[in-house]
Amino acid sequence: MTSQNLTNISEIGEFNLINRLTKNVHIQHSETLKGIGDDAAVVNYGNKKQVITTDLLVEGIHFNLSYTPLKHLGYKAVAVNLSDVYAMNAIPLHITVSIAVSSRFTVEALDELYDGIKAACKKYKVDLIGGDTTSSIKGLVISITAIGIVPESGYVLRSGAKENNLICLSGNVGAAYMGLQLLEREKAIFEQNPEAQPQLHGYDYILQRQLKPEPRADLIEFLYSNNIVPTAMIDVSDGLSSEILHICQNSNTGCEIYEDRIPIAEETASMAYELNMEPLLAALNGGEDYELLFTINIADYEKIKDSKLFSIIGNITSAEKGTYIVDKNDNVIPLNSTGYQAFNN
Ligand code: ADP
Ligand code: MG
Repeated sequence: MTSQNLTNISEIGEFNLINRLTKNVHIQHSETLKGIGDDAAVVNYGNKKQVITTDLLVEGIHFNLSYTPLKHLGYKAVAVNLSDVYAMNAIPLHITVSIAVSSRFTVEALDELYDGIKAACKKYKVDLIGGDTTSSIKGLVISITAIGIVPESGYVLRSGAKENNLICLSGNVGAAYMGLQLLEREKAIFEQNPEAQPQLHGYDYILQRQLKPEPRADLIEFLYSNNIVPTAMIDVSDGLSSEILHICQNSNTGCEIYEDRIPIAEETASMAYELNMEPLLAALNGGEDYELLFTINIADYEKIKDSKLFSIIGNITSAEKGTYIVDKNDNVIPLNSTGYQAFNN
């Protein structure tokens, strides 16, 4: 075959690649309630339902060890998987951890990685139950699988949003992205002048959001204790706008988001201004916030209106109305996903 007929992965992108690779995968067991296409798969054994999710982190692609302490990396690798479990409205119970390591890493360095992994297991009460260890030619690769249990109230997919549902978001967005921009800036300065000391003092909040994200177990507990089951839910890993679009596409709806409702921390905004960036763009397109984006019935409004855990940022509309953001001057702007990668370039 000539190379003219072959396709570079970059021509079709990650989503189309996954769709293409998985298009003839047929579900063979009635125990598989949800396969590919959500934050986690859902399986059913008798009266107990489980969710299963897996993530792969590659040095140089997902993390940079020149500014990421290994302990933080271990913690974050677990946290991002648990976030996908919570995004199904489930409780994580078990993880497996597999690593490929080059000879550049010492035993003590891997001890640190595992200190972080164990700290996250302790905090979120999950058991490390296995994994695999092998060598790599270059760099560190970490793969984590998380398994969780679905409570009686049921699991939540991306596809259940309905017209007039309220769109809610936990915490705030854009902070992890601004933390990354700060670390990249200090790295560039250090590369120019190795004598320079990194200026990280006073930026604790955004650095913590980038280096040590916390999945929103507290939000899931709040929803359980108030008998609220979201109609749809997703975690914010790639950027708010792309996650909103995932919910709308999977649910076959439109949406109306209000710019002034999007929660942005003061520290995020001030870092953005320092770097001559627009805070709203970091909030919409920056990745790795690991907040939960979900939709609820308007009838649940009374139960949630006083909670400080999240903000109502808009509402679901019919698919015909499209996906929009209303800015501070009441201009209606189409919401499109420029995505984390595109924003990064
Ligand atoms: P997330 O951002 O929540 O981790 P992804 O975009 O990585 O989700 O994955 C979307 C869906 O595609 C998930 O259901 C995931 O399990 C599935 N998926 C991703 N990569 C593959 C693959 N190589 N083979 C089979 N399924 C995959
Ligand atoms: Mg996810």
